[in-house]
Amino acid sequence: MMEQKYCQSCGMPMQDENLYGSEKNGDKSTEYCLYCYENGSFKQPDLSMEQMIEICVPHMVNSSMTDEEARKILNQFLPELTRWKKS
Ligand SMILES: [Zn+2]
Repeated sequence: MMEQKYCQSCGMPMQDENLYGSEKNGDKSTEYCLYCYENGSFKQPDLSMEQMIEICVPHMVNSSMTDEEARKILNQFLPELTRWKKS
């Protein structure tokens, strides 16, 4: 069993290698998904964590999760990710 990987930018689970982003040399990125990271750089390099949360919330809201709950989870989860971690 492989360890569950999450994109270290948006927090999306990356169960499939097809979801991995790409490095400049064409290698797969093991840290970031293809929606965040392409050809060795972030697609939206100036994005703030708050803006990322706004992008993610609508994707998480469903019949069993409210907007407020999704926002709460992202506010706890995203600061742990490599891209947003304060050094
Ligand atoms: Zn991502």
